Amino acid sequence: MFALKLVRQNYAPSEEVLGLLVTFRKMVNVCLGIGLSTGVTSLKRLSMLSYRELKPFDCPSYYKLCAISKATGILAARRKSLKRGNATKSPYAVRSHLVAYYGFKIQNGSLRIPIGRRRYFDIPLVEHTLSVLSEALVRVRSFTLTAETVGLCISKEVKQIECDATAGVDRNLRALTYGNERKVVHYDLSKTVVTAQTTRSILASFKRNDARIRQKIAFKYGRRMRNRKAQPLHKATKQIVEQAFENKEALVLEDIRGIRRLYRRGNWQGRRYRATMNTWSFSEVQRQLEYKARWIGLPVIRLSRRETMGTSSTCPKCGERLQSDKNHGRELWCRICKSWMDRDMVAVVNLSRRGRLRFDRSKGGTVEAVMRNPTPTVIPGVDALEVSLSSDKLTEPQECF
Ligand SMILES: [Zn+2]
Repeated sequence: MFALKLVRQNYAPSEEVLGLLVTFRKMVNVCLGIGLSTGVTSLKRLSMLSYRELKPFDCPSYYKLCAISKATGILAARRKSLKRGNATKSPYAVRSHLVAYYGFKIQNGSLRIPIGRRRYFDIPLVEHTLSVLSEALVRVRSFTLTAETVGLCISKEVKQIECDATAGVDRNLRALTYGNERKVVHYDLSKTVVTAQTTRSILASFKRNDARIRQKIAFKYGRRMRNRKAQPLHKATKQIVEQAFENKEALVLEDIRGIRRLYRRGNWQGRRYRATMNTWSFSEVQRQLEYKARWIGLPVIRLSRRETMGTSSTCPKCGERLQSDKNHGRELWCRICKSWMDRDMVAVVNLSRRGRLRFDRSKGGTVEAVMRNPTPTVIPGVDALEVSLSSDKLTEPQECF
């Protein structure tokens, strides 16, 4: 299995490097123009058509090839969206940047890139970057420069680890729950909700009625919010992946795409409620879990929408549909087992079982896996589920979906 990751840091560019970034952007736009006017989207044909056009640009020829390749990527993405019937604009690179696959070197703790004839620019790499690069079998594939940051794309050949169990991951607005029949762990994410609320109130406090300024401010504070929300998410997902690796459990994720459709204008919800639900970064959690798991060779099972159905409302012990009650918050009632169960716990147990079914099926022995019960039935009252909390306070009752 092939795993990719990006490690990014800040750096101080020189005037010459900034000029190079602008040149690169211009070259990409020249290639895009040629591609759009001729309808060419393959790398080979585009390089034949545009290499000569790039002659007036004064920069190492490495970057000319990379600009063509970058433009090809953009054109290919555009063709794909057109094929899918999505509305697309003519692409145009606005921000100055530079992507290159060759010509660079990492030596003496810095990244050396060519900027002209026998002239180089050294970017000192910080401790974190160097520690990531020092990992065994890591190869640097390319680098990306912007005016403030340098990103190194690194790859590694990973061997997928053999898992003998599965563990579900249930995503909620204020919590992340991970576990299976043996153990369930809650990760409190209510901090992210507070961050989003604060950002909204800051944005609402700006009263000037100018769309351009409003957009600028919203962009700035939106980025700040995203960065602040990422931290608790990274912490939780890191721990989940580490635990799963230790216990040799494959992660099982539900399919909750389309959740945003539930919280739109005209759906009979309040503005505040919709705003809260729409700043929930469920997709970011999935992205983090997936890349982190892939980097260490941990398998991730994505359930289909049909397999996800009813995971948080079916009793894991008897299969009965659970009832919710306003006075019981996130607890659900099973009328056959006569007990209250935590919604998140129910969800992760069901997810891990459904994932296991898929897992057994994919391992071969389709008939056998379907015929036999994938998990021994839990005896009510005896196999009590252990719930441990990563934070001292329990997650408060919250909106369900
Ligand atoms: Zn039951």
